[in-house]
Amino acid sequence: MRALITRSSLLLFATAMIALVVADNLKTAGANAMKLTSRKPESSMLKEGETPALPDIAEPNPLLAQWEGPYGGVPPFDKVQVSLFKPALAAAMSENLADVDKIANDSAAPTFENTIVALERAGQTLERVSTIYGVWGSTMAGPEFQAVQREMAPKLAAFNDKITQNEALFQRIEAVYNSPAKKKLSSEQQRLVWLDYTNFVRSGAKLNGTDKAKFSQNVLAEEDGQFVALKSEADLAGLPQSVRDAAAAAATTKKQEGWLISNTRSSVDPFLTYSDRRDLREKVWRMFIMRGDNGDEHDNNSTVTQILQLRAERARLLGFTTHAHWRLENSMAKTPERAMELMMAVWKPAVARVHEEVADMQALADKEGAKIKIEPWDYRYYAERVRKAKYDLDQNEVKPYLQLEKLREGVFWVAGELFNFKFTPATNVPVAHSDIRVWQVADKTSGKQIGLWYFDPYARAGKRSGAWMNAYRTQERVNGQITTIVSNNANFVKGKPGEPLLISWDDATTMFHEFGHALHGLNSDVTYPSLSGTAVARDYVEFPSQLMEHWLSTPEVLNKFAVHYQTGKPIPQELVDKIKRSATFNQGFITVEYLAAALLDMKLHLAGDKKIDPRVFEKEALDELGMPHEIVLRHRLPQFMHVFSSDSYSAGYYSYLWADVITADAFGAFTEAGGPYDKKVAERLRKNIFSVGNTIDPAEAYRNFRGRDPKVEALMKKRGFPS
Ligand SMILES: [Zn+2]
Repeated sequence: MRALITRSSLLLFATAMIALVVADNLKTAGANAMKLTSRKPESSMLKEGETPALPDIAEPNPLLAQWEGPYGGVPPFDKVQVSLFKPALAAAMSENLADVDKIANDSAAPTFENTIVALERAGQTLERVSTIYGVWGSTMAGPEFQAVQREMAPKLAAFNDKITQNEALFQRIEAVYNSPAKKKLSSEQQRLVWLDYTNFVRSGAKLNGTDKAKFSQNVLAEEDGQFVALKSEADLAGLPQSVRDAAAAAATTKKQEGWLISNTRSSVDPFLTYSDRRDLREKVWRMFIMRGDNGDEHDNNSTVTQILQLRAERARLLGFTTHAHWRLENSMAKTPERAMELMMAVWKPAVARVHEEVADMQALADKEGAKIKIEPWDYRYYAERVRKAKYDLDQNEVKPYLQLEKLREGVFWVAGELFNFKFTPATNVPVAHSDIRVWQVADKTSGKQIGLWYFDPYARAGKRSGAWMNAYRTQERVNGQITTIVSNNANFVKGKPGEPLLISWDDATTMFHEFGHALHGLNSDVTYPSLSGTAVARDYVEFPSQLMEHWLSTPEVLNKFAVHYQTGKPIPQELVDKIKRSATFNQGFITVEYLAAALLDMKLHLAGDKKIDPRVFEKEALDELGMPHEIVLRHRLPQFMHVFSSDSYSAGYYSYLWADVITADAFGAFTEAGGPYDKKVAERLRKNIFSVGNTIDPAEAYRNFRGRDPKVEALMKKRGFPS
């Protein structure tokens, strides 16, 4: 039943230094959805009350068994065979449904114990099976497994619907929620009741998905169907070899001669960055920004209008002023007004920074005698030239100081300083692949078991790209004293045997980021599994992980762990300064491009019942904001997948900025005290942020840590904005 609440694996796909780039990757949402699905198995295979049959397996299915072995039991990765998943999922879903039916049909009056706590205890077998199923899906997905996934996906979705549509169950949850007895519960218990109730209302309030599916299909159709052909060497002027190769490969795929630029971000952005051909830059840019807005069969404008109207109507039925008010109820920001206030505080300085960036670029163009005025299709191109001139950083100069295994020792050391953790190799634990290593985490002083940390750093076939954290088991006390099991996953290309693997500064930052998620799980100290570890609000979950990124550049870590793989000398300070300076490069553009989209997302969902014409709305809203002429929205409305392909990021695109603001502000607590390793601040951080999971309102938790609400100043400084 914990399946109801997303305890998603946490992903980071690109550089963590520029969090916006990271955050903006739609894959994050997609992968979360995958995890959600994998935790929500199905109903159609087995009718209620039917005994689960295991047709292909004569022996008991090992995936259904309790986890045995040391450390409170460990996942039986050594016993996995792909053929075991289907019968295991079927049996576990059936058991989960039986658990839920028993709770829903209880003849006793609904209480916290017999309903809410009972739900916390339900579906444990499914929790175990779907954890391993999820690990296989993300790291070991060969063709045989993919066939199982295709078959199971609709069944898992149907299972989930069956639970969230269980009217009797909802009535019991609602009764506990409305009962006067609720006041006698602890604050953690009251929060659990509230979460179960609102999550149930939310999943029951699903809209017909047809519009949203149509929206995505239209965008994909235009990304897939349109391109700009490059016919001669002259059309390739300025493009590096890698971009030429990609363009040639794209042409081959589309059965075209020569080269072509597809209508996707990964193809368009490098072209706009490097192409010397201003005419072609404009052509490619126009194609890309007009996706879904060409007045043809794939035009999304009327779909946007319709989705917004349905959302407004639903919000009203649920008793909220607007869709934005409804969506933010469960967030740290809590109200759209608060989120808008924060965005506007960053907006003006970001726009001011854009004007400086444009002035730099214009000066460069004038100096070269280009006789142009910077237009949106010139921005990336001239920004890259400015970057080379002012901030050029040679990664090959940095990499020899960044050894993967040394940095792993570095994150362990930081965890020891901040949280008193000690990491010891655990060699007696089964793993899914021989590249994976496991450490036991214990308290340095008492030796008490905290949990296990699995590290799966290398790329391989069947493993999805990027880096992420996953929880195999969450800490809780309802089912006994359960310790957590977490993992960090990455896609480094394995080095030669005996040679250290050297990584980039961005990758090192990502490593600290993902380890931050792991520490969020490891520090968890709560009673109920649904509230444990990283199961927190969307605009809060990246806070602990982004915060940990700050410790990479502390002198303590750099001097001990960022050492040259041959000479053993620590990374020179001037190189670190150069890295930090380059991190502020182009932040005006990055912030404004993103923030304008986030502001429009919120404004659209604050408009209520008003019938929206997206073209008119976009133009008027941007004029009113004073959008710089040289930048276009990162996602124009007819292509804003985050917001219109599902509900999940609607009125929620701001959350990336929100997490960034609180991160920068929180690190200030350390610098204002004794520095990044100040024991008192670290203890406040553990007590109020890293250990509490979702047992407390995040805004309150933050105030308990910081002594006040977050302020935007630290972020401004970090991004190099004028204050
Ligand atoms: Zn993250």
